[in-house]
Order: sequence, then C-alpha cells, then structure tokens
Amino acid sequence: MDDLAVTFVDRGRVQADRNFVVDGHSVATASDRDPEHEYETYVVWNLVVETPEMTVLWDTGSHPEAGDGYWPTPLYEVFAHVDADEHALPADLEDVGYSVDDIDAIVMSHLHLDHAGGLHNFAGTDVPIYVHREELPYAYYSANTDQGSIAYLDHDFNRDLNWEIVHGDSYHLTDGIELLHLPGHTPGLMGAFIDRPDQPLLVVGDEAYVEANYAGQSMATSLLWNNGAWKESLERCRDRQRATEAEVLLGHDLSVFEDVSGSEA
Ligand SMILES: [Zn+2]
Repeated sequence: MDDLAVTFVDRGRVQADRNFVVDGHSVATASDRDPEHEYETYVVWNLVVETPEMTVLWDTGSHPEAGDGYWPTPLYEVFAHVDADEHALPADLEDVGYSVDDIDAIVMSHLHLDHAGGLHNFAGTDVPIYVHREELPYAYYSANTDQGSIAYLDHDFNRDLNWEIVHGDSYHLTDGIELLHLPGHTPGLMGAFIDRPDQPLLVVGDEAYVEANYAGQSMATSLLWNNGAWKESLERCRDRQRATEAEVLLGHDLSVFEDVSGSEA
C-alpha cells in the first residue's frame, strides 16, 4: 500500500539473564559446573501505523513506575525495565511526532506487563483496544488467581477500556494491516502482516524475543504457555516471511529493532 507508514517508537531497555530468553543458554554440566551467565539488554518498542482509515498504536509498553514497585519485585528482579520512568507513553509518542489523541485504535499483541502498561492512558475513552479472544480471559485469570502466568497485572488492563475482540487465525484490521493469531508465548498472542510500500513488515513480536528464538531455540519455559503451539506459530511466521520476503520485527531483540527501525541508539 502506497499510503501506509510505520513509525517505530523506542520504549526503553530491559535487562535480563539470557537464560530467560533462550532456554538452556548457559546451564551447568558435568564438565562445566560454573558456566558464565550473560546479562543482556533488550528493547521494548511500540509502533504507530498510519493508514488512510486510521492511526493505529501497536502495544503500549511498560508502566512508567515499573521499577518503583508497580511491578512485583520478584518479577522486576528477573526482567528489569531499567528506564521505564523515562519512557511514559505520551512523551515517547511526542518524540516521534504523535500525541495520545492522534491514536484511533490500539492493537494489543498480548497483555503482558511490558505491553499493557500504557493502557491507562486510554481509560475512559472510546479508542477501541483490539485484543484476541484467547488473551483477555487468560490475562484476567492469571492476574487474579495463583494460576496461569505471573506476567499479567490486573491494574494494567482491568480498567474502563473499549475492548474489541479479535477472533480466528487472521483478522483484517484495515487495508494494509492483517492481524495474525500466534498462540504459544501466550494463548492470544497476535503478530501482524503490515503491507508497507517498499517492503512488507512481519511483526513476529513476542513469538520470538530474539533472533535465536526465530531460528528455533525456544524461550525459557516460564515464557511459554504452550510449546507445541509456539512451534506451529513459528512455522507460520517463517512460511509467511518466505512467501512475502517481508522484513521481520522480533519482540525484544535490540539489534534487530535498530536495523528495522533505522535507529542508532
Ligand atoms: Zn510477553
């Protein structure tokens, strides 16, 4: 599509042990009982996709008080969004020439706390928040019981929000944006195929945090809701990439983000 534009929004840096992102990256073995751990830096990003019909925000990042007690301490210890306080959504949008009021619709790839932490900016508004049918109940169940995943915070999403529920494997959001259901990391994870003018963009998102995941090495089990579904979703992404020669945007890989967004950071 000629009249579609994607803007990349840098929402800050997360630091974590690579074992969290690539399962079994450094494990003690009989011959190496004390392997070195790699403590790495990852990125949190959002997109603004402008189409003739609507301006779409992809995900909302972490809550700015993530490191000040908004995120549970045990979780922050493992996955530290170290500069969340410098990355409130309204300010980050303004850095790339948009305001919160410019946003006509939001797509939530999923409701984990590093994606749903900016939803409060849209509470009480009519802005539609697209989320997959399989994600919303699982997020609520996880955040409000001791079951499910610990990466959902009730106060991120249990608000006066105008939810729009996405069903099925493929959903036409608007001309140029197709949402793809990619269960595995979470039950309702969504990626997207975005038909940019020069080269399409395949948003793989948290289906693959980093390049090693896209190459087939799974994330740690704590980041996988269903391993079999994760593998199927990965094949779906790769098939689509091969068929379209799209550029691929991964969930938290800093160097991939720098390449795709053309930033130098
Ligand atoms: Zn996630």
